[in-house]
Amino acid sequence: MVEGDLHMNLILLGPPGAGKGTQAKMLTETFGIPQISTGDILRAAVKEGTPLGKQAQAFMDDGKLVPDEVVIGIVTERLQEPDCNQGFILDGFPRTVAQADALQENLRELGKELDRVIALQVDTEALVERLTGRRTCKSCGRGYHVKFDPPAVEGRCDACGGELYQRDDDREETIRKRLEVYERQTAPLIDYYRNAGLLIEVDGMQQIEEVRETLLAALRTE
Ligand code: ADP
Ligand code: ADP
Ligand code: ZN
Repeated sequence: MVEGDLHMNLILLGPPGAGKGTQAKMLTETFGIPQISTGDILRAAVKEGTPLGKQAQAFMDDGKLVPDEVVIGIVTERLQEPDCNQGFILDGFPRTVAQADALQENLRELGKELDRVIALQVDTEALVERLTGRRTCKSCGRGYHVKFDPPAVEGRCDACGGELYQRDDDREETIRKRLEVYERQTAPLIDYYRNAGLLIEVDGMQQIEEVRETLLAALRTE
């Protein structure tokens, strides 16, 4: 199902574990527009051992942000691909005010505008439970949860049959660090986009399917 007429240059904002990737992948299928996940792109680069991957790995393992200029470069290139013409869903970017400013500048040059920024709100303890139980597909990056969203066949991705693994940074100590990094560096973007009149806040504590419904309803109203 591809729906027309909806303005679909979106950002999904929220702390690690809020459900950005889960919702972005569903929106991708519903609307036929690409998900741009800087985390997925960086993990693929690490796996392939590219120069980008070598540059990013230590930061990621440590639960820190990869330097702004590196991720800004990735997204700038990606937004120029023709599949972004019908819209895009940014997942995990921007994460700093500098990234958000660069994105604005970038979109202006491309003659595009952001339509909405959706902030998923989830309590810290729920985030920790989600992240410790998360399993990720090695091939396509889809996320699962051992309790909340298990795959049909244990250890295998429903979407592509790829092998599921636990990300190195999804261990409790690194999770706490990432949540601190979020509070310090990324949470200010909530006010940034509220002030720009773009913010929609969605209760991310609901079940996956309910979050999806809430989100779709929010996208369908102006
Ligand atoms: P993010 O991309 O924001 O870091 P994910 O979409 O990867 O978050 O979700 C983190 C984990 O929580 C995954 O294991 C996912 O299956 C699970 N999850 C996502 N949304 C929900 C939800 N609404 N309720 C319970 N678990 C969820
Ligand atoms: P999560 O949604 O669970 O936090 P991501 O897959 O979005 O995980 O990100 C994993 C890691 O990749 C981050 O901890 C960070 O090191 C790096 N990363 C991803 N996106 C960005 C970004 N926009 N800016 C800087 N670092 C990023
Ligand atoms: Zn997969």
